[in-house]
Amino acid sequence: MKTSAIMETVSEIQTEIKTQKDESFRDRLATVDEKGKRKWIYAQKPAGKFYTVRSYVSWGFFIIFFSLPFIYVNGRPLFLFNIPEATFIIFGKVFWPQDFFIFGLMMISFIVLIVLFTSAFGRLFCGWVCPQTIFMEMLFRKVEYLIEGDAPAQKLLNKSAWNKNKIFRKTAKHLAFFLLSFIIANFFLSYIIGVEELKKIISEPITEHFGGFTSIIIFSAVFYGVYSFFREQACTVICPYGRLQSVLLDRNSMIVAYDYKRGEPREKFRKAITAEKNAGDCIDCFQCVKVCPTGIDIRNGTQMECVGCTACIDACNRMMEAVGKPTGLIRYASENGIASSEKLHYTNRMKFYTVLLIVLVGLLTSLLLTRKDVDGTVIRAAGMLYQERGGDSVSNLYNIKIINKTIKNIPLTLRLENTPGQIIEAEGRSIAVPREGQGRGSFFIVLPGKIITERKIKLRVGLYEGDKKITTLKTNFLGPVYHREAEEKEKDSKHH
Ligand code: SF4
Ligand code: SF4
Repeated sequence: MKTSAIMETVSEIQTEIKTQKDESFRDRLATVDEKGKRKWIYAQKPAGKFYTVRSYVSWGFFIIFFSLPFIYVNGRPLFLFNIPEATFIIFGKVFWPQDFFIFGLMMISFIVLIVLFTSAFGRLFCGWVCPQTIFMEMLFRKVEYLIEGDAPAQKLLNKSAWNKNKIFRKTAKHLAFFLLSFIIANFFLSYIIGVEELKKIISEPITEHFGGFTSIIIFSAVFYGVYSFFREQACTVICPYGRLQSVLLDRNSMIVAYDYKRGEPREKFRKAITAEKNAGDCIDCFQCVKVCPTGIDIRNGTQMECVGCTACIDACNRMMEAVGKPTGLIRYASENGIASSEKLHYTNRMKFYTVLLIVLVGLLTSLLLTRKDVDGTVIRAAGMLYQERGGDSVSNLYNIKIINKTIKNIPLTLRLENTPGQIIEAEGRSIAVPREGQGRGSFFIVLPGKIITERKIKLRVGLYEGDKKITTLKTNFLGPVYHREAEEKEKDSKHH
């Protein structure tokens, strides 16, 4: 074995031993002390390239979040997630409870996409585009820095006695937080009920929209509670995606990682001593810990609490530049990348998820393409037998239920597609199906007696708007053959 290889192994073992020694930090959350009490995180204001780019991304997010409810396509919102009425509009397409299968498949595809994305890019989503992180770090936290100052000033303010300054700043902060929460709650609700309904709740008397008004207050209170007090715990304790990280990540996933090979043994920066002792590049300045909004020390390795916000990358890069060392001691890398300088690569696990995702998306696409805008069911009226009409024809009574997923009212007429006969609407008119609504009706199908050669005849009923066929529904017709067979049997038995 070459000397360099031996040295490398020894260094790995040393790092391993060091890490094992320090593993006790995993026994509890970074935000909880030995007595189980919450430790308030005073995250220092980040600054650097990543933070600047993230700020731009957050502006993009805010523009999208606050403008989407106002975008309408063909008279309907681009997105609507009306959970109480089980109606969803995605990219202007309405999905009803009848589309449950498509919706379910969408959710499964989305989950597989998340699994694939996470196994490749770790918590990139959490750090860059998760609404919780963006609202917390890019809105509420910035307002807090503005009113209370950076982390040391906040700490000082919290420890100080209640004086005018403290009362003013705390009141201003909490008023601003509640106002922001109230605005977010309104927009959040508009994704559920639509902006037009929201306008009614705002402009009409509360008594007429008590449910809607209560929802706004509850949502506002929840957002205020989360961003004022609960904060990073939403990511570390509540968010299921965060909890699943340990399963979704592997040693090849891209994460925010500390290069322990380069950084250790860490040593306080003193030029002469650093050169002498051949210390690692980490100068133990704790800047990466001070900026961390979840209060962890990334030098301890991958931790569930890390939301990949990149604040520690910026902080460490600044320190490296200050002491004249190369940046990237903390950077985006995989665990294997740090341990053996492997480049990020496309693993078998990722390939498997990709194939699965392609299959699911293919299935979903075909379902979406073949999905009918008008659909329904025709069934024979329960408990009704056929009726003979004047000896030469027979009728059955049917109930029809039609769903119109389009944005226009459709007067539907019915035609028999595969047999001679007649359809007589019970109410003597075509069935009106309102836009994005349901229509019901009853009708008779009358068939000439001579074509009824079987007890049960399969029929196809075409739905027409004027002369334009919209869709075909299947049903059965019961005829008197069974009746004749019974009569013949009866005659035979009498004869014998
Ligand atoms: S460890 Fe770094 S990336 Fe992870 S949450 Fe803390 S500051 Fe953000
Ligand atoms: S910021 Fe960089 S140099 Fe400072 S303690 Fe963290 S890893 Fe070490």
